[in-house]
Amino acid sequence: RAKMSGRATFCFYTAQLQAQMARALHVENGLRRALERDEMLLHYQPQCALADGRIVGAEALLRWRHPELGWIPPSEFVPMAETSGQIAGIGRWVLDTALGQLRRWIDAGLPPLRMSVNLSAVQLRQPDLPEQVAELLQRHRIEPAWLELELTETVAWDDPLESARTVARLNAMGLRIAIDDFGAGYTSFSHLSLFRAGTLKIDRSLVSVIENSEGDCSVVTAIVNLARTLGMHTVAEGVETPGQRAALARTGCDSAQGWLFGRPVAAADFETVLLQHLETTPG
Ligand code: C2E
Ligand code: MG
Ligand code: MG
Ligand code: MG
Repeated sequence: RAKMSGRATFCFYTAQLQAQMARALHVENGLRRALERDEMLLHYQPQCALADGRIVGAEALLRWRHPELGWIPPSEFVPMAETSGQIAGIGRWVLDTALGQLRRWIDAGLPPLRMSVNLSAVQLRQPDLPEQVAELLQRHRIEPAWLELELTETVAWDDPLESARTVARLNAMGLRIAIDDFGAGYTSFSHLSLFRAGTLKIDRSLVSVIENSEGDCSVVTAIVNLARTLGMHTVAEGVETPGQRAALARTGCDSAQGWLFGRPVAAADFETVLLQHLETTPG
């Protein structure tokens, strides 16, 4: 009874595929005008020291509200922007907006924090990326040390050595490089020798199972020790429970990010978080 005829199944999948393709087209068309129509904004998520919970940084996360389709997750539109070449303009806007926001927070007297910005592998292939970054740092009067650029492998590296040279130039400027999603399958061990990064971000998939077994915990401990040997700072991603936090603290991991510490929120709400934080953690 439950068995569908071959033809019905075929029609079902065809209809589903058509709907998917129609949405992809709709999203891609909208992407072209998203910035000029002011449909994009950044949310900020705190990064906290595991030892005392102090906010040490913020990661800027891109948000897009399509006029008809509503909120579209970056996992859907960032890869599209990468293949269409629009990531260059969008990425530049993200950096400009995040650094401008950091300047306003500094001017408002909020305690200094490091701003982490996600960078696409496509942006790394732009030969003038270091100049772009330098120009924006200067325009917003931000010390390079306060900017961290997070690298994930979402597209194939055409020329990993060229990317490594660009990363070396960014390092030489004094800003910090982070390897994002470490252990997720894309970003892996080869990146550790290719890029001299100051920060290693441990992927959520490893953090979510840390309480399951001794073995899962040992994997994270080994990564933290490896990072320390390489002189890198560690950040655990996607920390949702006090149990995960406690287990992470035992591994010696430096900082954490996740819903337990704070969700990504708009700039005004993040400011409230920072002000509350100032009151509860003096000094
Ligand atoms: P990511 O850089 O690894 O960012 C972390 C993601 O985990 C974010 O998803 C964040 O909202 C989510 N997250 C944070 N804490 C938790 C938690 O406790 N539990 C769970 N389940 N999730 C948590 P989001 O904002 O959807 O971003 C997804 C990815 O899109 C990012 O992963 C990043 O690779 C990319 N992305 C976001 N903004 C930008 C951008 O401005 N430029 C580029 N090139 N990529 C971006
Ligand atoms: Mg990131
Ligand atoms: Mg990540
Ligand atoms: Mg990611």
